[in-house]
Amino acid sequence: MRIHAFVALLATVVACTAQTPTPQPARVAYAPPRQLILISFDGFRYDYINRPAAKNLRALAARGVRAERMIPSFPSKTFPNHYTLVTGLTPEHHGIVANVIRDSVLGTFTLRDTLAQSESRWWGGEPIWVTAELQGKRAAIVGWPGSEAAIKGRHATWWSRYNHEQPRAEKVQLLLDWLSLPPNEAPSLMLAYFHEVDGAGHSFGPWAPQVDSAIAQVDSALGALMDGIAARGMTDRVDIIVVSDHGMTPVSPERAIILEDYIDMADVDVIDWNPVGAIEPKPGAIDRVYARLRGAHPAMQVYKKGEVPAHFHFNAHPRITSLVLVAADGWTITSRSQVARWRENGWRGGGNHGFDPDLISMGATFVAAGPSFASGRELPPFRNVHVYPLMAQLLGLRAASSDGSLDSLRAALR
Ligand SMILES: [Zn+2]
Repeated sequence: MRIHAFVALLATVVACTAQTPTPQPARVAYAPPRQLILISFDGFRYDYINRPAAKNLRALAARGVRAERMIPSFPSKTFPNHYTLVTGLTPEHHGIVANVIRDSVLGTFTLRDTLAQSESRWWGGEPIWVTAELQGKRAAIVGWPGSEAAIKGRHATWWSRYNHEQPRAEKVQLLLDWLSLPPNEAPSLMLAYFHEVDGAGHSFGPWAPQVDSAIAQVDSALGALMDGIAARGMTDRVDIIVVSDHGMTPVSPERAIILEDYIDMADVDVIDWNPVGAIEPKPGAIDRVYARLRGAHPAMQVYKKGEVPAHFHFNAHPRITSLVLVAADGWTITSRSQVARWRENGWRGGGNHGFDPDLISMGATFVAAGPSFASGRELPPFRNVHVYPLMAQLLGLRAASSDGSLDSLRAALR
């Protein structure tokens, strides 16, 4: 500003002040910082949003953006993908390479092992809540894979042990209570997880009416959250992203690949079975096992570590086994004893995931709305590694290095 203009402006301000003996409130109100909520509906296939029960999710998408589908990372399983969503790293880079993992130092990782869940050495990379906390912001979490470990020495400000029985209404109330804190105390970032849709999809398959009931349950929790935000007058301040980790495809006992039909099971340790077989052959047995499995079944691909096709991004990590088996869409890699149990239980089929992430059946959900997002826009399919840099941008944080890039999601932003 030139000095003359400044003097003229100052004169105007002084004149105005002189004519206004009592101070008036500033016309530009203090704008509290934006807040971000990331919600996961486990197993919410990309096309479930079109089911009648998903009415609140459709309403959110109508005022924001939605992806045609989001492409999960391989394997399209729950823990690898939840941790990819918050780190922007593929499983071969963050180390949660399956739901069941073996590590030469740490032993075995399972979902129910609370010690493994809180052991930070399992969890590579930097999840978004650690990025936030390290840069002076607060995060609050209701049940997210990785949140029980002190990664880089940090937990979120608010976190708890995973409780599968925690009522949905209680999770929503926690989010609303955090939003109601004074701006200098409130978290900038909140994460919440809902398991119901995945469970119904596994038990009954993606097209079952029980899946519609589960969609209605999580959708009404989303509706309660949106109503609570509106009631607090915060709709223009809170960005909401709803994601899922993977899709769901029908499976049945007729589409089974029984490993004992091809190999001597004494030759291998099977770390994880289905639909991605994580196989560690005994010393000296790898070439024999590989030769027998290769081409053995038209619905099963077999790869040596290091030769897994590039689009799977699944070669680098030491926890990836020497052989990786991948079943075709809808097939199950299993054992004779498991097939016997199916017969005893009368299992007729259901749903599963874990398959090639590029399969449309594995497509995941991405819907986002709020002050930072464009309105009424549909995005072409994109990989879930890009969600982390997007969240860092929304929160004004310097993102840690990742496999994602903000460029892929700029079209989502206002
Ligand atoms: Zn899942």
